[in-house]
Amino acid sequence: PLVLGVESSCDETGIGLVRGTTLLANAVASSVEQHARFGGVVPEVASRAHLEAMLPTIDRACAEAGVSLDEVDAVAVTAGPGLAGALLVGVGAAKALALGLGVPLYGVNHLGAHVAVDVLDHGPLPEPMMALLVSGGHTNLLHVPDITSDIRSLGATIDDAAGEAFDKVARVLGLPYPGGPHIDRVAREGDPRAIRFPRGLTGPKDLVRHRYDFSFSGLKSSVVRWVQAQERTGEPVPVADVAASFQEAVVDVLTRKAVMACTEHDVMDLQLGGGVAANGRLREVLEERCAEAGIRLRVPRRDLCTDNGAMVAALGSLLIAKGHEPSSLDLPADSSQPVSQIRPLARAAS
Ligand code: ATP
Ligand code: MG
Ligand code: FE
Repeated sequence: PLVLGVESSCDETGIGLVRGTTLLANAVASSVEQHARFGGVVPEVASRAHLEAMLPTIDRACAEAGVSLDEVDAVAVTAGPGLAGALLVGVGAAKALALGLGVPLYGVNHLGAHVAVDVLDHGPLPEPMMALLVSGGHTNLLHVPDITSDIRSLGATIDDAAGEAFDKVARVLGLPYPGGPHIDRVAREGDPRAIRFPRGLTGPKDLVRHRYDFSFSGLKSSVVRWVQAQERTGEPVPVADVAASFQEAVVDVLTRKAVMACTEHDVMDLQLGGGVAANGRLREVLEERCAEAGIRLRVPRRDLCTDNGAMVAALGSLLIAKGHEPSSLDLPADSSQPVSQIRPLARAAS
């Protein structure tokens, strides 16, 4: 079946078209530039941008795939988690499409879609698998026995997301928003061992209570304090060394805990996803540590790692293949949908 996927949980309006597990189109419109001067995503701005981009992006996806809307067999949409107003735009559009075309609607979990997407790039997902999702809004370690019915959250950030930490530290270093790619770039010229920044939640006690959780706000504060102390000395801030040392701390914790989760659960397939998956050092260290531990690593291509509609269509397609029921047309958008809930709950009958 031809599945159209709608994504609008954050600052990307994404429309994907997938036939079975073949990717036909992946049109994305990002409002990232409109948020740049605020140094982070502004919910109201994102919602308005989704409204403006939705119809043109649907048209672009159909043109890219060479299909017309009336060929679509099902519509899938991100129902949560994400920004409430932003989600509502996508859910509203998806309902209108499903109703207008007379096809079933599948509400799906955004994080589940980030995992499912790799079926489009590297084929059937290993069962079970682990997933490390790292983006501007999420940092999750997931144990996934079956992407269509069973996702277990092993850990998550208890404060800032990994991408958010990159963006905040970049700002302190005077680099543009979004800062992740800039830190990645300048860190190449720096020494990752120049400054020993803290590795959050890796102490003996933390490894009991927060074994697979992450914390990046202490790291961020530590970088801020270091930079301020340096500025007080009147010496220039060694931007490349700070960037490289900060990045090393983030990468060290992410990769250590991901590998630990795999070996401790005897799950030897790990998938990386989310916008931070583009980070060169993260990929390098993860590849090394996975190889050492005998873990097979899958990283979807870049445009499939960041938020997009194809990932939503992919999860919709897998649900259909397994015979799951469609959602009802009064499907709610749930900004805090738990990751373990692959399909949003139906609204309670009143
Ligand atoms: P969500 O959290 O819902 O997935 P998002 O828009 O915040 O949404 P993405 O678009 O997937 O997330 O990713 C954007 C984040 O990825 C930003 O925080 C950005 O700085 C970070 N990022 C992008 N490229 C790199 C890189 N090379 N190194 C580190 N971080 C990066
Ligand atoms: Mg984004
Ligand atoms: Fe995302």
